[in-house]
Amino acid sequence: MVAAHLTCPTNVLESAVQQLDDAAAMIDLDPAIHAKLRRPRRALIVSVPTHMDDGRFEVFLGYRVQHNMDRGPCKGGIRYHPCVTLDEVTALAMWMTWKCAVVNIPYGGGKGGVICDPACMSMDELERLTRRFTAELIEVIGPEEDIPAPDVNTSDRIMGWLMDTYSMQVGHSVPAVVTGKPIAIGGSLGRAQATGRGIVFVAREALRTRGMSVAGATAAVQGFGKVGGAFAELFAEMGAKVIAVSDVSGGVINQAGLDVAALTRHVIDTGRVAGFAGGDAITNDELLALECDVLVPAALENVFTADNAASVRAKMIVEGANGPTTPEAHSIFTERDVFVVPDILANAGGVTVSYFEWCQGLQHLFWTEDEVNRRLESVMVNAYNEVYACACERRIDMRSAAMAVAVGRVAEAIRLRGIYP
Ligand code: GLU
Repeated sequence: MVAAHLTCPTNVLESAVQQLDDAAAMIDLDPAIHAKLRRPRRALIVSVPTHMDDGRFEVFLGYRVQHNMDRGPCKGGIRYHPCVTLDEVTALAMWMTWKCAVVNIPYGGGKGGVICDPACMSMDELERLTRRFTAELIEVIGPEEDIPAPDVNTSDRIMGWLMDTYSMQVGHSVPAVVTGKPIAIGGSLGRAQATGRGIVFVAREALRTRGMSVAGATAAVQGFGKVGGAFAELFAEMGAKVIAVSDVSGGVINQAGLDVAALTRHVIDTGRVAGFAGGDAITNDELLALECDVLVPAALENVFTADNAASVRAKMIVEGANGPTTPEAHSIFTERDVFVVPDILANAGGVTVSYFEWCQGLQHLFWTEDEVNRRLESVMVNAYNEVYACACERRIDMRSAAMAVAVGRVAEAIRLRGIYP
């Protein structure tokens, strides 16, 4: 059941398909390849009966969608959220295909989700849910088929249970079946902060190409979880001023720059951003309309819509979340010349370090954190430069350019592999 305070994103699949259609028209995509990419390769719907702590069992609904495998195994997270739908997971799987292609790592896109509210569940219940969900997916996941990872409300602990369940079923340890695991069982150094760090690298490049620098740049961040929290911390360390942050509880603002370390401690202690003494209260809507250099949506989909896109006053938006901008808002940003670094590029740092974790797991050879961060920087900066060059050459916005690069790469793989049989 959906909690009363939640507004669930709708029509995200329509947005994702619309983005593909626009890219197809732009790059003159073969109509047959276009038709193939408009739908997922397969989608699995599973019931997940789970023993609850009070002795009852509850039946949750779970999904795994595999959008495309032409460039390699499917890759993408699993989210636990009351608003999960098959359409949403399908859109997210499609975005993973483009994300892996735009940073040029050898994966296709997948995504999974379970309709549940982890905030109301104990750790034991989450473990049993995860183990049963993994058992239900056993036929379709694997290190060469489909490699899950964390997403909204799923953690390294949860990935550890997934890895253990899969390993117990096949009879030996398979660390490469999942990424974002705890370090002690094959996780990669640098993975926990990778999405936030990747956003910092592209934000730095975006500021540079717009004639600005990180030192003294002002930033506002919507969402203070794994992605927004890491971004705020690292961006502030690099000399930027994080002036506002919000989460579902509300937000805080301090024009002189928030003390991000103190805010992080406050969130660890109280579980929420609201009530932080180092700034004044601000609403989520006010944060999205703040005047600042960099605005980072780092929560869920459909944050920028036809209703609020005209009121955005940030110089640039760097999309930490997946799908925060609807096609209508995208058109408004393009008309108003708001520079947007799109989700599939901006938040690809997470899946990039997942790729590194997978490589390390397959080789049983582990890298230092410095090595991981250096390689991440190189992947993100190269991808940014490729997309920026395409945008300049074709005189198009960054989202259209990222889609042109990504869809072009996937189409090329399909053309070269051909259609079986
Ligand atoms: N859930 C993350 C994303 O949306 C990471 C996926 C992965 O590491 O496979 O990019």
